[in-house]
Amino acid sequence: MSVPLFRRVALLGIGLIGSSLALAIRRHGLAGELVGFARTAKTRETARRLKLVDRVEESAAAAATGADLVVLATPLGAYAELAQAIEGSLAPGAIVTDVGSVKQAVIRDVGPYIPQGVHFIPGHPIAGTEHSGPEAGFAELFEKRWCILTPPPGTDEAALEKLKALWEGCGSHVQVMDAQHHDKVLAITSHLPHLIAYTIVGTATGLEESEKGEVVRYSAGGFRDFTRIAASDPVMWRDVFLNNREAVLEMLQRFTEDLTALQRAIRWGEGAVLEEHFRNTRAIRRGIIEAEQAGRFDPREPGEGKGS
Ligand code: NAP
Repeated sequence: MSVPLFRRVALLGIGLIGSSLALAIRRHGLAGELVGFARTAKTRETARRLKLVDRVEESAAAAATGADLVVLATPLGAYAELAQAIEGSLAPGAIVTDVGSVKQAVIRDVGPYIPQGVHFIPGHPIAGTEHSGPEAGFAELFEKRWCILTPPPGTDEAALEKLKALWEGCGSHVQVMDAQHHDKVLAITSHLPHLIAYTIVGTATGLEESEKGEVVRYSAGGFRDFTRIAASDPVMWRDVFLNNREAVLEMLQRFTEDLTALQRAIRWGEGAVLEEHFRNTRAIRRGIIEAEQAGRFDPREPGEGKGS
């Protein structure tokens, strides 16, 4: 039998991403032992019942002790406290990583607690669903999806290669980039679309009762896809917007200007402007399909090939 990539992996947070990673690591034999930490007794019990990990601990420090890979997988707002809790338990040579949707804030919040001799390599799998919690996970979540790693300058090459190998072992493509660049790119590809979805669904919620019923009945006209995105975890997304404020506000400013231009074209009946705009956006969709990033597999919703 081949030797696993990591001797012991500690997952701090066993929600959608933590449980999916546990299942993928197990399926592909990437760790000798999987240890999990969850805040609530309910999640710890679920993790045991579903056998997501080999051992579940009540404290993050106990889970991190003796691990050669520690993965933070909670909402971003909990990172600083978690990092502080595990600081004294990290073994020299261990790698600390995370899966958070914003990267500069992770370096700010976790970086100060990483002891000398421990490797810190933030990461973000560009994969997810609107479901959360330990029962939402599935081993295929990361397959053919990108995982972005944002190693700070001077990161140990061997540690980076090992972490890359983990994500590749889970079926992901890996891209290394600067944390600031990550936050800017994700502001437009993920954060702004979520903000728009939350807004549009909120606007519909504010309609008169009679119109609200019709919104649900005729939702297949486009609204339905927004409701899926707007059903995403409220705490996770609160933390994303609080922690990527500058990049999101910059993209929002550009978006508002473009929206105003389209508004003007509608007002003045400028069909050519609208048509050209819609032709260009259609080309983007084709590019996403060609890059095999359009559909997703989620065993909770068989038969639905949707973008995530
Ligand atoms: P999730 O399903 O809601 O799970 C969150 C986990 O974190 C749960 O185990 C929860 O514990 C724990 N947790 C919550 N607040 C905590 C706190 N204050 N202290 C300690 N533990 C806490 O979330 P998720 O979707 O897996 O997201 C986790 C991370 O992945 C986030 O940073 C997010 O930005 C990132 N991410 C998410 C997606 C996505 O589509 N969902 C995609 C890529 C990256 P309890 O269950 O015990 O409360």
